Amino acid sequence: MLKAKTALVTGSTSGIGLGVAKCLAAQGANVVLNGFGDAEGPQAEVAAAGAAHGVKVGYHGADMSKPAEIEAMMAYAAKEFGGVDILVNNAGIQHVANVEDFPVEKWDAIIAINLSSAFHTMRLALPAMRAKNWGRIVNIASAHGLVASAQKSAYVAAKHGIVGLTKSAALETATTGVTVNAICPGWVLTPLVQKQIDARAAAGGQPVDEAKRQLLAEKQPSLQFTTPEQLGELTVFLCSPAGANIKGVAWAVDGGWTAQ
Ligand code: NAD
Repeated sequence: MLKAKTALVTGSTSGIGLGVAKCLAAQGANVVLNGFGDAEGPQAEVAAAGAAHGVKVGYHGADMSKPAEIEAMMAYAAKEFGGVDILVNNAGIQHVANVEDFPVEKWDAIIAINLSSAFHTMRLALPAMRAKNWGRIVNIASAHGLVASAQKSAYVAAKHGIVGLTKSAALETATTGVTVNAICPGWVLTPLVQKQIDARAAAGGQPVDEAKRQLLAEKQPSLQFTTPEQLGELTVFLCSPAGANIKGVAWAVDGGWTAQ
């Protein structure tokens, strides 16, 4: 379905981004990966997911907190892949502390990586999408783009911000073949959340499995983690013809978290 399209997924060497990249490749999209750590393993996984279509998989290690590196990544995608048809803004980090204790450099990093990077990739991708009159932008926000939790001020501010950015860009492109939407996951068991589970287990002196159960019970009525594959399949749907008139939504995949 997505053959001859190119998808760029930020923060796709791990977790949700890697899951989304694999689902897009399985539909025939060429994929540009981004993120820190080992890139070869993720590249091989995405190539295997798209093997039936012979998809091309690239990688650019731009740091999403650095606008000049984001520009270099977009230039790489244009040169090596002919541009970006599907942009998934997914890179993100977390830090947990009360506002008065929040390290200033952590605040700046979270706003830069979780919010401003999406502004930069979008401003650089939109002209070519408009010219082709086709494009899909999917911003991985969070349940924290819709409701707050204590000790997550920077993350909640960035995620509410990206939901707002999504709506503005969707309105600006409303009459074109470009759609801009956000996905708002609840808990997904990735390294980002495992860190929070481990911290909870250490603080409460309880087994990791019990900390995991409590984490879900507090917020997510289904008591099940959302999976990267479920988020990837929703991204595929938003990229399909059926998604053409879905504009500016913030779609929760959160086991009922924000229904409460
Ligand atoms: P993760 O830690 O598994 O993956 C994060 C990815 O972002 C990695 O590839 C990492 O290398 C990359 N990254 C981090 N900083 C970067 C930077 N400066 N430049 C480039 N890449 C960078 O986390 P995840 O859980 O898969 O999270 C992915 C996105 O989903 C984030 O935006 C997160 O806020 C969001 N999200 C996660 C959950 C969850 O429960 N895991 C829930 C809602 C939303």
